[in-house]
Amino acid sequence: MTVALMPPQELALEDQFADLAARHVAPRSAQAYEAEVLDRLAWRRMAADGLWRIGVPVELGGTGGTWRDLATAIAGIARGSDDLGFTLSLIAHAGLVRALVEHGTAWHHRHILPPLMRGAIGATALTEPHGGSDVARTRTVARRADDGWYLTGTKDHITNAPVADRALVLGRIPDLGRRDITLFLVNLRSPGVRRGSPEELLGLRTSPTGALHLDDVFLPEEAVLGRPGEGLATLYDIISFDRALYGLVAAAYLEPRLDAVLRFSREREAFGAPILDHQYVQGRITDIRITIETARAVSLAGIDALVARDPEASLRCSVAKLIGSEGLVEAAENLMRLQGHTGYMRGDVSRDLQDALGTLIAGGTSEMQRKNILNQMLATRRQA
Ligand SMILES: Cc1cc2nc3c(=O)[nH]c(=O)nc-3n(C[C@H](O)[C@H](O)[C@H](O)COP(=O)(O)OP(=O)(O)OC[C@H]3O[C@@H](n4cnc5c(N)ncnc54)[C@H](O)[C@@H]3O)c2cc1C
Repeated sequence: MTVALMPPQELALEDQFADLAARHVAPRSAQAYEAEVLDRLAWRRMAADGLWRIGVPVELGGTGGTWRDLATAIAGIARGSDDLGFTLSLIAHAGLVRALVEHGTAWHHRHILPPLMRGAIGATALTEPHGGSDVARTRTVARRADDGWYLTGTKDHITNAPVADRALVLGRIPDLGRRDITLFLVNLRSPGVRRGSPEELLGLRTSPTGALHLDDVFLPEEAVLGRPGEGLATLYDIISFDRALYGLVAAAYLEPRLDAVLRFSREREAFGAPILDHQYVQGRITDIRITIETARAVSLAGIDALVARDPEASLRCSVAKLIGSEGLVEAAENLMRLQGHTGYMRGDVSRDLQDALGTLIAGGTSEMQRKNILNQMLATRRQA
């Protein structure tokens, strides 16, 4: 199905990680969902098999390649794992790994990147109790210490927060004046960091989310990622990768579900014929395939634009997120409808719908993607 868009070595990488996930994530996924925990054993296994070294330059301890390779491996895990939540936890971590490589200093590469490649867990903390869409209104504040910073604030609904080792935290340095938004790398085992309880969610229960309370957390000078005051521009690059990943993962996650519903539609009969013979059923099935094709194509275009440092990369990644998450929800609903009452019963199909709904909000809502698309269009038109 993916042949035209992906060269053979990419298909092989996707298959390799799909197979790994089928053996090490899928078998425990239902149990992890029940317990509402991240499968740490599976996480460690993915790290041991080199997931977090993909895309990282060889001189930094990685295996080289591009971020498209890492995205491909994560798409493989989405396809093989039967676990959207686990995959979203991977996306949160992937954003941090790429951020460190792209925007980090030699100090970050030496001290922070290696554990994250070996199996430590990362998070990106933007949202606060008063809101997540308008990230520039962050109330998390850093004040000067002799040899660093003291960071204070509360972050909410953060993927991996209950279990993460390291977080990228958005805050401000009021002493800088108007342009004060800054990104900080916080060791979550530091004094002054307190984690909220894992949140109870409608779905995505294998991807724990929660609050992070930061109370005068001391950070060394080197904890700033990118330039102080330039955090928003850096952040937009970082979250663009996450957004494109949402689209690619949506396509990959739907592939085995499409195969399964095709089998079901051939076997299930109504009005003396397999339901697949009925045109309205065919329409729902083709819609799922169209979502897979579209989400994959726009996501790969977004990732390629990021890799090429194309000025429209952020716009394209927002398109990928929007098409991917809206399409995933529509497809999950179609999968449920096609399987009638069985689809509505508590089980894999209804779990897919519950999980899919979370992607409308995580990674920024569809309204925020539209807003970014327009802002980027206007910005590039102004430059033209
Ligand atoms: C499963 C999951 C995982 C998450 N993981 C993380 C994470 O790892 N890190 C993190 O920082 N956050 C995370 N979040 C939080 C998420 O990013 C925010 O919930 C999201 O950005 C929306 O913020 P909010 O909930 O505060 O809604 P609000 O910002 O309060 O918005 C409420 C509604 O108003 C709409 N709205 C707001 N402003 C406008 C506007 N200008 N025009 C039109 N509509 C508007 C929004 O689209 C939304 O529908 C996660 C959320 C979920 C569900």
